[in-house]
Amino acid sequence: MSGIRLTSPVTELRGIGPAKAAALQKLGAAKVGDLLRVFPRAYQNRGDVKTLAEVGEICRSSPGTGLPVSLELTVASEARLANIRRGMSILRFKAFDDTGVAEITYFNQPFMKNVFHTGGVFRFWGKAELRGGKITLTNPLQEAAGEGKKLLPIVPVYPLASGLKQKMMQQLVGEALAAARTELCDHIPPDVLKKNNLCSIGYALENIHFPADTEALAAAGRRLAFDEIFTVSAAMCLSKKREKSRSAPVIKADIFPLISRMPYELTGAQKRSVGEILNDMAKNEPMCRILCGDVGSGKTAVAAAAAYAAASAGYQCAIMAPTEILAKQHYADLAPLFSSLGIESALLCGSLGAAEKRRVQQSLCGEDAPRLVIGTHALLSENVEFYRLGLVITDEQHRFGVNQRAELRRKSHGAHTLVMSATPIPRTLSLVIYGDIDVSRLDEMPPGRQKVSTFRVDESYRERLLGFIDKQASEGHRTYVVCPSIEEKEEQSDDAEEMFDLSLAPTEEKEPPMKAAVSYAAQLRERLRVAKVGFIHGKMKTAEKDAAMAAFVSGETDVLVSTTVIEVGVNVPEATLMVIENAERFGLSQLHQLRGRVGRGRDKSWCILVSDTKNETSARRLEVMCSESDGFKVAEEDLKLRGPGDFFSNGGEFRQHGSADMRFAASLTDPGLIGDAVDAAKALTAADPQLSSAENAALSAIVGDLLASSEDTVS
Ligand code: ADP
Ligand code: MG
Repeated sequence: MSGIRLTSPVTELRGIGPAKAAALQKLGAAKVGDLLRVFPRAYQNRGDVKTLAEVGEICRSSPGTGLPVSLELTVASEARLANIRRGMSILRFKAFDDTGVAEITYFNQPFMKNVFHTGGVFRFWGKAELRGGKITLTNPLQEAAGEGKKLLPIVPVYPLASGLKQKMMQQLVGEALAAARTELCDHIPPDVLKKNNLCSIGYALENIHFPADTEALAAAGRRLAFDEIFTVSAAMCLSKKREKSRSAPVIKADIFPLISRMPYELTGAQKRSVGEILNDMAKNEPMCRILCGDVGSGKTAVAAAAAYAAASAGYQCAIMAPTEILAKQHYADLAPLFSSLGIESALLCGSLGAAEKRRVQQSLCGEDAPRLVIGTHALLSENVEFYRLGLVITDEQHRFGVNQRAELRRKSHGAHTLVMSATPIPRTLSLVIYGDIDVSRLDEMPPGRQKVSTFRVDESYRERLLGFIDKQASEGHRTYVVCPSIEEKEEQSDDAEEMFDLSLAPTEEKEPPMKAAVSYAAQLRERLRVAKVGFIHGKMKTAEKDAAMAAFVSGETDVLVSTTVIEVGVNVPEATLMVIENAERFGLSQLHQLRGRVGRGRDKSWCILVSDTKNETSARRLEVMCSESDGFKVAEEDLKLRGPGDFFSNGGEFRQHGSADMRFAASLTDPGLIGDAVDAAKALTAADPQLSSAENAALSAIVGDLLASSEDTVS
């Protein structure tokens, strides 16, 4: 069809009225060009046509597995329709190939009678079963086949919304691809494509929708993964250049008075980070820096040094924490220290009484305002006005909501910003995940920290493990037990339309069944002789959670069974044992975070990874945990072994980039490509900082959209 352009509204496509347009809108497609990015959620390998003899063999050797198969069959007999009950019908006929005969059955699809006539050839896609020795297909999908018919070898399966059908989606995407063929030009320069052995955008889109074969599909996925990282990186580089072109207060201060009052000497990593921060703040452009370090690596002391520099230079510094517990902890740590240096501080959080809150809010603005303000997102309330805000520090920024981050950005306009994070991110991913902000790493623990001894065990150790938990309890120590799910659930979805998934993700081998927190806690209660067991999970009410947590903190219970929702920042120094069930299910960074909950007191601590996995990669990942205690190294290994998926998804923590969801990048099995994409983007934006050259026009448009969408969402 001519006249359809990528920028045309979808309503210009044949058959698309307001209702279908609304459904397409739900999938993110308002314009024809958007259809190109409604990617299949799976594929059916219908081109892999089997003979009935082969299918019979499969059914006999592994009965009940029910993988869908593709068969090309000729209808042998006229289809017979029987009404078995009111509103219930069965359509039945036989069909054959050179190797045998199958029985085909359709329930409640009487209209199919007109589709099948003796001698007609069809490609069927469905699950085959042996019934009384006969191969049977029930409600298979069918396409007319035979001479002159071109059928797709690999059929895309699209996400749908009400009123949309697979065949219609295929047709719509086909029309979008036709428009793309004449209109689309590649936004990645030819030399970058060549160097990284990537296919063109046209080829990638054609083959991600209608793959010629599995190799073409893989090549398309690789190109699109590179693309995601490349465009986000380019956007990040540009956004930093813009940020840096603003002006910020020049802060030069002597922090010796503060350092000399600290009860310990800063570690080398802390000194280096403080140096990097002071250096940034002494420039008249805003600092954009993240301070990364494991739990316990001493981020607070570094933040204190930065805050002191700002405060003693006459500027206000705001420190924002994701929870009241953490805000109060910072306040308790810092207020006395700053007060001894003649600097006043204030605490602002939600639980203050209304009058008190108003008093603090009013005190923040004006000549004699406290120079250090610590709080929760209450700091973002519209009633809060700062006075000469010079520095904003956020702890665990990823735990703030999207709107809160946008609000924070507005409030801290023109100030230096420092973000603190305990989630170690591999170096190659930091640009893509944090944006092009500078990174300071606390990769050295304060002296005297003990390592948490980490072991992997399997089910055969169960008795000994229980004995060990009891022993800890009898010595007054506490144990965390983490399970991957809350309740037992059926793991297999048995959707009739479910299909052989040819997605690009590496196929996971079957893992052992999941331990569930609730039933597991009940079992432990029965089997432990000494230890008392409590549990906590994400679906409990806040009051119940608080009660369970308080019982564990006070020692009323010795064992806390939980899903991964244990509050960050909850500090139980008596906890000496972390048991993680189905450890193979967790990302390494997550395991590392969990391990960080123990070893906070004086006593020797352990982390026991329970896993029966036979999967080689899973086993290797668990070995990394046992031998490595540095969070950054753990993260690098995780990236190498599992690809970047966990870092991009992580419960949504890092989905920072508006429309870029890193869908293809997340299933990259070749992490080397990430670094290459980042480097290519850096080089390109260095050479053309405004993306103003003609060759970069297409990229400039994409990056512009990306920045616009992340501007109204997040930092
Ligand atoms: P986090 O990075 O998790 O925020 P904190 O700042 O809370 O870590 O520090 C953890 C503990 O380590 C605190 O008790 C702090 O007093 C202590 N600490 C921090 N820096 C040092 C250091 N250089 N030497 C000794 N102890 C330190
Ligand atoms: Mg901290």
